[in-house]
Amino acid sequence: MSAVIPIQRDAADLGCADAPVLRERGQREVFCGLTGIIWMHRKIQDAFFLVVGSRTCAHLIQSAAGVMIFAEPRFGTAIIDERDLAGIADANDELDRVVRQLLSRRPDIKMLFLVGSCPSEVIKLDLSRAAARLSREYLNQVHILNYSGSGIETTFTQGEDACLASLVPELPQSTSDTPSLLVVGCLPDVVEDQFARLFTAMGLEGVQFFPPRSSRSLPSVGKHTRFLLAQPFLGETARALSERGATHLVAPFPFGVEGTTEWLRTAAHSAGISPERFAQATHVSRERAQRALERHRERLQGKRIFFFPDSQLEIPLARFLSRELGMHLTEVGTPYLHREHLKHELALLPSGTVLSEGQDVDKQLDRCRAQAPDLVVCGLGLANPLEAEGLTTKWAIELVFSPVHGYEQSADLAELFARPLLRREKIAPSTSQEAVCS
Ligand code: SF4
Repeated sequence: MSAVIPIQRDAADLGCADAPVLRERGQREVFCGLTGIIWMHRKIQDAFFLVVGSRTCAHLIQSAAGVMIFAEPRFGTAIIDERDLAGIADANDELDRVVRQLLSRRPDIKMLFLVGSCPSEVIKLDLSRAAARLSREYLNQVHILNYSGSGIETTFTQGEDACLASLVPELPQSTSDTPSLLVVGCLPDVVEDQFARLFTAMGLEGVQFFPPRSSRSLPSVGKHTRFLLAQPFLGETARALSERGATHLVAPFPFGVEGTTEWLRTAAHSAGISPERFAQATHVSRERAQRALERHRERLQGKRIFFFPDSQLEIPLARFLSRELGMHLTEVGTPYLHREHLKHELALLPSGTVLSEGQDVDKQLDRCRAQAPDLVVCGLGLANPLEAEGLTTKWAIELVFSPVHGYEQSADLAELFARPLLRREKIAPSTSQEAVCS
């Protein structure tokens, strides 16, 4: 059995803990917070997400999720049309009518989120009042909540943050004096099960996950609750949990072997689990994951990568790619940089890494072209033009849609970055062949 290796770094080397950050507030190219519905509707299986928006919002969600033909969908759009916009129809009455119709047809829905959009904000439709009004009508039958996924207010992963923050006041109060652990952030069920097994093997019983798979099993929270964020974009949710008395365990995020080990170790340490027990519980998964990473290191080592700001996963992913796969970071952009939540991650980035927060897309494109990186992580809107310019790209949204947390997924995460480079290598000879032929 091998010992758990603590994070290797010089005591004097603070990485990017105090590094300057280029702050930009120009035009940005990011999906709106409605996108979060795509992964959240799969998680809370008796919830329904009703977007109160336009046909554009409906198209965004349907094309991002694919149209479900055989299943009863768990999301939909109450379309705000010209009559609502012109004030001819009372949008509140219309919304109540749509909700009643939906809930009478779908008794399986136990939690309903009214999701605000740009159009609902423009006509100043007060969804919190609508949720309160409808909650009275459906008391003890359906939880009705609201949050905003509007592109005016949110980037795509902030939709999950806004959704979970709206759910925190609904969590039952814990009356237990025994410390408990809550893992916060949407994880695919398979990943949640892997973590649950590791916690059990360490001797940590009764770990709860938020959001839960069913709205009927909301975790309790109180002053003896400690919580670990599984996602770096949950600032509002963390604040709401802290206001309920819970304690945030700040840790690196569980991406890659190192991040997963440190995340789990933080949980184990807070529960007083011995280093030996921790090592015993994790070493098999850790070593297997390290071996699985080796085949990707060969392809990724020394390659230069540039991150446009999209998902707020950028800093933990950059740490993983740099420390475990030997990639060189040319610029790491993130929509928002929460220094406290990311303090361990920043300290693990190589000193001198260029960090940027927010976006002024034209300036950032210029910096990207000047760097000529081997791989660019960006949104769908930038990927095609950059590919046409000869740059190799990775869609940021795929990193959020795919299971990427934990030991078992470390190699899959590395592969998401290796695949575009392989594709480019395969295309390159045929392109030059065509050029020769023509
Ligand atoms: S919420 Fe706004 S940004 Fe998002 S799809 Fe609707 S109109 Fe577009």
